[in-house]
Amino acid sequence: MNREGNEEIALEFVDRLSDSLGFDKERIQHLFEKNYLARNWGKYEHLLRFDKEISHIEHGTVLYEKGSSFEFIMGFPKIRRAMVLYPTLKKHFNGLSKLAVEEKMNGYNVRVAQINGEILAITRSGYICPYTTERANVKLNLKFFDDFPKLVLYGEMVGPDNPYVPKAIYDIDSVEFYIFDIREKNTGNPLPTAKRRELMEKYGFLQVKSFGEIPLKTAPEEIADIIRKLGIIEHEGVVIKDPEMIFPPLKYTSSQSNCSDLRHAFRFYNEAGRDYMLSRIVREGFQTVEWNEDETEFKKRCMQLGESILNPLRESLRSVKNSQRLYEEVRIRVRNLKTASDFEDYLKRLGVDAVFEEPYSVGAEYLITVRKLNKSTNDKTQAIWEGELW
Ligand code: ATP
Ligand code: MG
Repeated sequence: MNREGNEEIALEFVDRLSDSLGFDKERIQHLFEKNYLARNWGKYEHLLRFDKEISHIEHGTVLYEKGSSFEFIMGFPKIRRAMVLYPTLKKHFNGLSKLAVEEKMNGYNVRVAQINGEILAITRSGYICPYTTERANVKLNLKFFDDFPKLVLYGEMVGPDNPYVPKAIYDIDSVEFYIFDIREKNTGNPLPTAKRRELMEKYGFLQVKSFGEIPLKTAPEEIADIIRKLGIIEHEGVVIKDPEMIFPPLKYTSSQSNCSDLRHAFRFYNEAGRDYMLSRIVREGFQTVEWNEDETEFKKRCMQLGESILNPLRESLRSVKNSQRLYEEVRIRVRNLKTASDFEDYLKRLGVDAVFEEPYSVGAEYLITVRKLNKSTNDKTQAIWEGELW
């Protein structure tokens, strides 16, 4: 096709997008120029993603042509955090009598949907992850998507064969997809929690654990108890939801999960965001005061917090001092070696510095160790050992 032909298509595309979004054409062009609206690449080039929240369209929203118009898969809305349970729950959920309390699992957020006949897994930012897409096709009951082509499953990929957030704290051999939300395409409207659970049960999907519906009145004490118990087994925390999914959910986490995040953050201290580190320390302060902890409990918390900062830091600094490069080792499990090479390209494309080791086969699948290099912390540490200033 000649150059003019291409431009014509592009203009016509912008026209239709402008009608569909209700934005004027200049605005659409501006979004493309700034890469706020960007394309995936390769065979997913036809899938556009919002790289930024624009006029109530969530960051990570994906859109594509469907017939003569467009279909949208909304990004997963940000869940705000309760720093204290009382009076926050009462204030936020004012007027509700009961709250649905669910476990917050620690993995990575994925949307799975049928897009023009294919089942694809979309990351929080709206990328199609080849690894997660293969896992979703292997693990999920795909009949669901034929029966409900208009619904999108939102869930957490959890377990040891997880290239982003590997966790051995759950009783999972490899990696599993736990559903926590179902929303309609285009509108992004969520199903009420009970309806979602019933539907998922019917199709045999794994779901995040439910702690039932708890009266708003007693929620702060009851949730504090749940959190203490989850903390003992190193689980992350809870997400507290309006059963009808009209009020936005809130999250609240255990001290052990804050410490676990800090251990990771301080191991790679130059990669981790400062807000990320600070907010986890401040949470510890609020929790100890809200829970009225005595001196013994407080001392224990201080030790745990201090150790989760200094232990990994000491380990990293020593490694570099001994000329060992810092990296994080993760593992993936694929059915098809092509998935692994697609995933390698994908990570490269996203700027992740990763080395894939030789695959070894287990049954019908392959395990591959992936080393993610932490160049920034490594270089900074080395420079300091060589006498550089902070
Ligand atoms: P957010 O922008 O939503 O705060 P984040 O990555 O900063 O995202 P997290 O602290 O991990 O935040 O908390 C929100 C994430 O928790 C969700 O994006 C989702 O992936 C995950 N999650 C795990 N379990 C649940 C659940 N039961 N309900 C909702 N989300 C859950
Ligand atoms: Mg998380």
